[in-house]
Amino acid sequence: MSLGVALFGATGSIGDSTLSVIEAYPDRFHLEVVSAHHSVDKLLNIIRRFAPKHVILTDTSQADLLLSRLPHDFKGSVAFGDIALTEAAVASEVDVVMAAIVGGAGLASTWAAVNAGKRVCLANKESLVMAGSLMMADAKRTGAMLLPIDSEHNAMFQCLPEHYRTGEPIAGLRQLILTCSGGPFRTWSGRKMAKASINDAIAHPIWSMGKKISVDSATLMNKGLELIEATHLFQVPESAIEVVIHPESTVHSMVEFTDGSILAQLGSPDMRIPIAHALGFPNRLSIDVERLSLTSLKCLNFEAVDHARFPALTLARQASDAGGDRPIVLNAANEIAVSAFLDGRISFPRITALVSECLNRLPQQPISCLEDVLMVDTLCRQAALDWMQEGT
Ligand code: NAD
Ligand code: MG
Repeated sequence: MSLGVALFGATGSIGDSTLSVIEAYPDRFHLEVVSAHHSVDKLLNIIRRFAPKHVILTDTSQADLLLSRLPHDFKGSVAFGDIALTEAAVASEVDVVMAAIVGGAGLASTWAAVNAGKRVCLANKESLVMAGSLMMADAKRTGAMLLPIDSEHNAMFQCLPEHYRTGEPIAGLRQLILTCSGGPFRTWSGRKMAKASINDAIAHPIWSMGKKISVDSATLMNKGLELIEATHLFQVPESAIEVVIHPESTVHSMVEFTDGSILAQLGSPDMRIPIAHALGFPNRLSIDVERLSLTSLKCLNFEAVDHARFPALTLARQASDAGGDRPIVLNAANEIAVSAFLDGRISFPRITALVSECLNRLPQQPISCLEDVLMVDTLCRQAALDWMQEGT
């Protein structure tokens, strides 16, 4: 039976890798839905290559452009705006949702898919950071299976018994070991980092990714978001997660058990590997990726995080410990700050400083539903914009 896939964020980096896995298995997967925000050219290429049944463009200002350029033989339907995402996420023809939108913009559609009990391949870590407790509870209620795409969480998941499902406690766990490449500034001094350019920050030494996650990898906020993501997926407190710098990015993460065993997952740094794992689960797909040559690797290095140069991880630990709305504030402030940095409006160190300022200045709000999450998100984005102007 061919599975109907809804690929949200089809024009991004994870979107590209997902399309390449799906293309290799035309009998097993078909594209029910693809979404893009505003890259019409890329979306048209996808339409020509895959003939998806349903196409969504969330940025409505590009609607006319897309409609005027649709191929004449395209037989699918087209919809516009965010609401089209949540509607598509619950459609009965959709078996699997690949949540590959970047940032909080991916929350509502991911949540809708969870509530409809879909298999959700989760790349959009921000949605779990913002609403992890609520979303995991909903997944338990609806039977939605959350399969991690983030390479680290996918690695941990692969190290667990086959019957293990995310959202359950892990039997015999001592700790999770989250590896981190260290990003482009691993060896830079604080003084040099203060002058880092946009190009410096997005030049990840190992992975080729979208701009937002590349900057997050440079501040190490990506690891902070991943830490919070892991607390929800694997039901552990942040204190049960150790972060280690591993510059080769070959060991994608590890799980340490109470008997002293540590299990690791290794592989080339290619996102098609976790994507193929999640799409095929519990079976293995066969994909054409560069094989890891252990003899040419020779050695693997591990080092401690320098928290003085990279304060983002400490902020994420504090936000995770405090719970409630703190992770939402951490994420919203970070999104505003990263976007301002990418626009050349603030310096690199100001990104984490602004996140810290928002966490200190915004009073805590209770969170009990999606509306609460969205309200805190909106308030924090506005506050971050205001305080950014004060500080510049
Ligand atoms: P990207 O910037 O390359 O692509 C983002 C996608 O989201 C695009 O298709 C874009 O059209 C869409 N999008 C952007 N803004 C939107 C909005 N407001 N509304 C609807 N759609 C919107 O990003 P990426 O690197 O592919 O990352 C996607 C997600 O996967 C992120 O949450 C990231 O943290 C996570 N992730 C990425 C990688 C990677 O290797 N790229 C690895 C692990 C996790
Ligand atoms: Mg990752």
